[in-house]
Amino acid sequence: MKKGLLKVAAIAAVSVMAVMSLTGCRNGNELIMGTNAAFPPFEYTTTNGLVGEFDGIDVAIAKKIAEDNGKELKIENMQFEGLIAAVSTGKIDMAVAGMTADDERRQSVDFSDTYYIASQVMVVAADNTDINKAEDLKNNKKVGVVVGYTGEKIVTENLKIEPAVRTKRGIDAVQDVKNGKLDAVVIDSATGKALAEANGLKVVEDAEAFETEEYAIAVKKGNKELLEKINETLAKMKANGEIEKLAAEYDEKVAAEEN
Ligand code: GLN
Repeated sequence: MKKGLLKVAAIAAVSVMAVMSLTGCRNGNELIMGTNAAFPPFEYTTTNGLVGEFDGIDVAIAKKIAEDNGKELKIENMQFEGLIAAVSTGKIDMAVAGMTADDERRQSVDFSDTYYIASQVMVVAADNTDINKAEDLKNNKKVGVVVGYTGEKIVTENLKIEPAVRTKRGIDAVQDVKNGKLDAVVIDSATGKALAEANGLKVVEDAEAFETEEYAIAVKKGNKELLEKINETLAKMKANGEIEKLAAEYDEKVAAEEN
């Protein structure tokens, strides 16, 4: 009799789990962050990361958000381009991916308060002397961008340059600069600096051509509850200098690694 009951309970538990996975429902104790872990120092993979193989400024911030709310952080690593759809459909709770809050994306998702200010930069060979401002890219330069990044939009729409290469990851475009296939890659400042440093290249800035961009966390449109929680943790981390500290720490950490 007892055995029979146990069996029934076991079957019931297994069925509930099966239905949960089928319907995409999940354990209420998890907070699922989606990201593209090829964007040092914000997210990258490494042995012994902060959360499994994942590490970076965004991972540390997301972990804090989860902890502040008694949740366990789970990370879904995906293509950067797929993040907005993953947030909108509820596949992930939030996209924490060095994502620039721009008007186009605001049509599909809601953004938290800003947690980091960046801009685009140009990564060029260490001995390059003829790329000193964005306009110089128009002199028949082979320019690389990363698909779906704000840099792609800025190169094509603002500078009106047809990129020679569109890669899936920043590192791939940066490698092309290293091996001479490209003259420059237009990419976010902190990531550009990290990748340039790790690959013996240099960064050229142009504050006039490249406006500042504000990184924020994306949630499903209308998810006020989560947005408020995220903003509370961000406010705390900004006020006590934790985000600044993380940024400095990870700049150093990433410079010491090969990414
Ligand atoms: N900030 C850039 C953007 O939002 C790049 C972000 C990223 O690659 N993770 O498009």
